[in-house]
Amino acid sequence: MKKWEEHVRRVVPYTPGEQPNRPGMIKLNTNENPYPPSPEVQKALEGLKADSFRLYPDPSASELITALAEYYGKDRERFFVGVGSDDVIAMAFQTFFNSEKPILFPDISYSFYSVWAELFGIPYRRPALDQEFRLVKEDYFAENGGIIFPNPNAPTGIYMELDGVEEILARNPDSVVIVDEAYVDFAGPSAMELVDRYENLMVVQTFSKSRSMAGMRIGFAYAQPALIRYLNDVKYSFNSYTMNLPSLKLGAAALKDRSYFQETVGKIVNTRERVKKELSALGFSFPDSRANFIFASHESCPARELFEALKEQNIYVRYFSSPGIDNYLRITVGTDEEMDALLEFLNRYLNGKKERE
Ligand code: PMP
Repeated sequence: MKKWEEHVRRVVPYTPGEQPNRPGMIKLNTNENPYPPSPEVQKALEGLKADSFRLYPDPSASELITALAEYYGKDRERFFVGVGSDDVIAMAFQTFFNSEKPILFPDISYSFYSVWAELFGIPYRRPALDQEFRLVKEDYFAENGGIIFPNPNAPTGIYMELDGVEEILARNPDSVVIVDEAYVDFAGPSAMELVDRYENLMVVQTFSKSRSMAGMRIGFAYAQPALIRYLNDVKYSFNSYTMNLPSLKLGAAALKDRSYFQETVGKIVNTRERVKKELSALGFSFPDSRANFIFASHESCPARELFEALKEQNIYVRYFSSPGIDNYLRITVGTDEEMDALLEFLNRYLNGKKERE
């Protein structure tokens, strides 16, 4: 080891899903939205002038914050925006998880949480999910230095009803509880409605999935103003200009078009429910996903084999080799046509395999 390397911070980074760019590929591996963003976004993009990039963007992200406040009918002081929800959550870890006690999050969950905890030196404990991959809420009644969980959970897709979320909140008045709602628009009511009653609750959402804007990197937090102020203090101690000008403008434009949003989310939910039936008929089982992906395991064919076979067909899904989930594929819900191509291939492959045996 070189002398200077002794002082290097060593971390095991998060591994994002592959972003291949192959002609004709069907990309169902990173939970992106198969539909384009609202036409309002295209219009706003065409209105942008390169000259506007000479200046720094508004550090308070006022245009986007105002659009969020209007969209949700809430005060501006309750919103915080960041470079995707990853940025918002990382900032929240630094701001709120500053105790000697371990923070809690499920052992099968968004794998970035442990990476941030390691990076920032935050102690953590990961209670196991139950046999059906459900979060056991009683595990979160123990002493802790903070709590975070996705709802719906990832990569299982299971959604916890708000009375369960509220029970966790009611038992944890002394720590900050973050509900990561990356997929909530495909699922059910948001914990945003609990914020009035719980000053220690922070809800995080993203434009990457339901609003088709993963490439713009927009995420936001919603909480009572005191939490948002603490979060802003840390943000301004790190980088005042996290949000670039196009993201501020195009994010605000996306929020103008409520009906397009509802229509595309509705289409994805319908496709998801149809694909669930067809996957069952092919011998797959899966938790009842309420997100824009299905976490599926086949009764006889190993997930890794299917993952490789699909890739050969230019169909990308996500495979995690971690214990407990290494026989599952996480399949993003694409368009009906994309899902038909996937199902058609799986049908052919699995039947061919039966004949070969
Ligand atoms: N939370 C969960 C549960 C996710 O699956 C993702 C997507 N990788 C994120 C947060 C981050 O999404 P983004 O940074 O694109 O908003």
